[in-house]
Amino acid sequence: MRRPVVAGNWKMHGTRAENARLVEALIEASDKASGEVVVCPPHVYLWEVGRQLKDSSIGLGAQNVCAEAQGAFTGEVSAAMLKDVGCSYAIVGHSERRQIYREDDALVARKFRAAQAAGLVPILCVGETLEERERSVTEDVVGRQLDAVLDVAGVAAFAKAIVAYEPVWAIGTGKNATPEQAQAVHAFVRARISARDATIAGGLRLLYGGSVKAANAAELFGQPDVDGGLVGGASLKADEFVRICAAAA
Ligand code: PEP
Repeated sequence: MRRPVVAGNWKMHGTRAENARLVEALIEASDKASGEVVVCPPHVYLWEVGRQLKDSSIGLGAQNVCAEAQGAFTGEVSAAMLKDVGCSYAIVGHSERRQIYREDDALVARKFRAAQAAGLVPILCVGETLEERERSVTEDVVGRQLDAVLDVAGVAAFAKAIVAYEPVWAIGTGKNATPEQAQAVHAFVRARISARDATIAGGLRLLYGGSVKAANAAELFGQPDVDGGLVGGASLKADEFVRICAAAA
């Protein structure tokens, strides 16, 4: 039985005051969620949000991590630093990082390894663009993104990782994948990992991300290979996010 997890990616939003109000509301509601709940604020707020979450069951994650351990990498934040300020998770390979900041599969694989080396659970994002879906190459793209990490980190690394399927065309667009489309890709991801290790694949939590809302969460999370969600916009609204977490539980 895989424990469901819902992670909120706040992206580059929030102020200290807004974060405090949001976290307070999430903590108040957190006893209703029997799954795992994680919030991923911008780096600069991690410490303060982490302090506020200290006695709660809600986990703290980073939205990005440097592939290097330390040194002359101006503006970057290492996995060890994220761990030091209280993070347990780090998103790697989010499509906004892949597309806007040109992070390629090889760099994403190095970030995955760096996160794990510091004791963080990587949340590895994979997913196709609209153009790729229309060309019917979704499985080629997602398979390539997965293999890049599997080849570098090894399948055993997936025993302590989470994978998020995030079709790029569904992120922030209000247009979610149908539950059937999500299930089909999730089943593909599990099979791809199962080809290397069936036990690890069976225990791996696969999140769906892309315009998840309270109104569509239960149907998406009801699919056999969907173990929760990675939620962007809707994670900034306490009521909405709490209802999404309840749908996963
Ligand atoms: C995301 O940022 O990972 C995401 C899925 O965003 P949204 O839920 O807003 O589509």
